[in-house]
Amino acid sequence: MDAPFPVIFGICLDAEAGWSRLLADGNPRPILKSQGAYAVREGLEPLLNLLDHHSVVSSFFIPGQTVDRYPEATRMIHQRGHEVAAHGYDHLALLKLSKEQERDELVRGIESITSVVGRRPVSWRAPGWEFTDSTFDLLLDAEISISTNFQDCSSPYRHVRDGAPLPLVEIPVHWHLADAPYFLYGGGLGGTIDTPSTAYENWSEEFLALYDDRPGSIFHLTLHVQLIGHPGRLRMVERLIKLIKSKPRATFMRCDELATQVA
Ligand SMILES: [Zn+2]
Repeated sequence: MDAPFPVIFGICLDAEAGWSRLLADGNPRPILKSQGAYAVREGLEPLLNLLDHHSVVSSFFIPGQTVDRYPEATRMIHQRGHEVAAHGYDHLALLKLSKEQERDELVRGIESITSVVGRRPVSWRAPGWEFTDSTFDLLLDAEISISTNFQDCSSPYRHVRDGAPLPLVEIPVHWHLADAPYFLYGGGLGGTIDTPSTAYENWSEEFLALYDDRPGSIFHLTLHVQLIGHPGRLRMVERLIKLIKSKPRATFMRCDELATQVA
């Protein structure tokens, strides 16, 4: 039988924490944060139902602040078979932090998930996909074994230092396979509202080409519940899931499942 073609949906449930970097000036900005609250109030359940309906398993990246604010939602994601993965605590941009602050963000985020879900996360994604010089060592110290941040490859690989393999697998991402470039709007962070069909066209073309033309590759889609959890966009995701499932080798996986296949 031909090798499976892994399909990863890496879904960020940032909620209010997604706007943390805009709150440093002390203004509470409740309207901006309400965009994040939508993710849990109305976006999450229809998304989970859609994934259940099509037997899609996925990995959810959740900041510790969101885990602590919404423990029931976090537990529901875990109980419905999805991976709960780490995504910092306050969703702070790492480039502005000292090494100790960066360690604190990482460790507190892991601790929140561990206490609410009862299982220590093994996968991690940086807010905004940025690393500092300290990040690799901090991840290894925290026993994070899966990173989903680098954009240098279309297939998963093991990080290497000085010629020696590290206990850290990379499951690469790409900006064109994320929803934020199409749908993030508000607060000066994003200025685009594309149609769902524009995103569908890009994602489906890329899926089909990776599937047909790149042996060993994966299709890794990055979604944010507050952006994708709106009715018209969810219909588009369902069209994409149906297209993916029409290909016999396509196999939905969680990041922790895929990582076990990387030498
Ligand atoms: Zn995020």
